[in-house]
Amino acid sequence: MPIAPADHEDVRARDPAGSAPVAAVRLEGLVKRYGDVTAVERIDLEIREGEFFSMLGPSGSGKTTTLRMIAGFEAPTEGRVLLHGQDVTGRAPFERDVNTVFQDYALFPHMTVGENVGYGLLVRKVPKDDRQRRVADALRMVRLEGYERRKPGQLSGGQRQRVALARALVNRPRVLLLDEPLGALDLKLREEMQIELHQIQHQVGITFVYVTHDQDEALTMSDRIAVFNQGRIEQVGAPAEVYERPATRFVAGFVGTSNLLTGSAAEAVVGRAGMFTVRPEKIRLEDPGSTAADDEYAADGTIASVVYLGSDTRYHVALAAGGELVVTQQNLTTSSTEALEQQGRAVRLVWKRQHTREVAEA
Ligand code: ADP
Ligand code: MG
Repeated sequence: MPIAPADHEDVRARDPAGSAPVAAVRLEGLVKRYGDVTAVERIDLEIREGEFFSMLGPSGSGKTTTLRMIAGFEAPTEGRVLLHGQDVTGRAPFERDVNTVFQDYALFPHMTVGENVGYGLLVRKVPKDDRQRRVADALRMVRLEGYERRKPGQLSGGQRQRVALARALVNRPRVLLLDEPLGALDLKLREEMQIELHQIQHQVGITFVYVTHDQDEALTMSDRIAVFNQGRIEQVGAPAEVYERPATRFVAGFVGTSNLLTGSAAEAVVGRAGMFTVRPEKIRLEDPGSTAADDEYAADGTIASVVYLGSDTRYHVALAAGGELVVTQQNLTTSSTEALEQQGRAVRLVWKRQHTREVAEA
């Protein structure tokens, strides 16, 4: 179900002036084949100016290939790439107003931070004064002012990543492409850098196109997300939209925990055939026989297993009507012992009907 283009049609239709601003990046019918392998199936997408836009999807879903076609490192087999309204499909990377930050952002170890950041300007013969000023500006943007004379070996992993970012920002691109730039960092640093990157993007106002396979990362940082699966985009939307209203079975499973009601369970709980999702944190655990309100659904089952997660507990509930639902509850007053003792208990699951979404197969 191609949802991506429709999303933008809606925006334009609602614009009273009838003229939507020109997209920073526009992909039209983009296809990339390598021999028998179709890396990108047929992508239509618009990324707005100044937006923090993420491409989220599992490994091999076509994110990097799409990014490389925007950058100009790969030529599309079919389709067009437009940057700020201009068709750049046939242009070389250096003729496009974009820069890329890769995961393996190798800095030159023998050069100082300032030399690393200014290297591209030196190659392009930008005069020394101008170069120094722009290097200082770029380092200020990533909060590394005064680090010009350090060597990469004297920096932490997060600081080195910020130097790599400064090296791209120094060229003042209108669009910055980032391919899993935090992938090499450990979890804690990655979480800090997620917040920093988001703040830096808002300050500099450059359009960021950010590739990640990490759903938390995409949900934390992005204005909007495109969810990739097997070379296609299954949904485009704001983080809350994609999380709360997944369009397809794949999106429901990839962004958050897949809680699917299908077949007999759908008939028993929702009252008709179909495929429905409900997020684990929306479900309450009640005693068997407790009544649900008119605006709620209820499903009977047995707690098959309990996973204690510190702040939360995850209950896997086998439904009498078939299938399983996962329920998460905050451990506000529950101890680990109390949580674990719930295993085997008969329960009634209750949740608001409005939290149930019907999803498509694909
Ligand atoms: P992602 O970045 O989402 O992990 P990629 O865009 O790197 O995915 O890859 C998408 C698909 O295209 C994968 O099946 C990958 O093996 C294939 N692919 C990517 N680049 C090439 C290439 N140069 N030659 C052949 N197949 C490729
Ligand atoms: Mg990739």
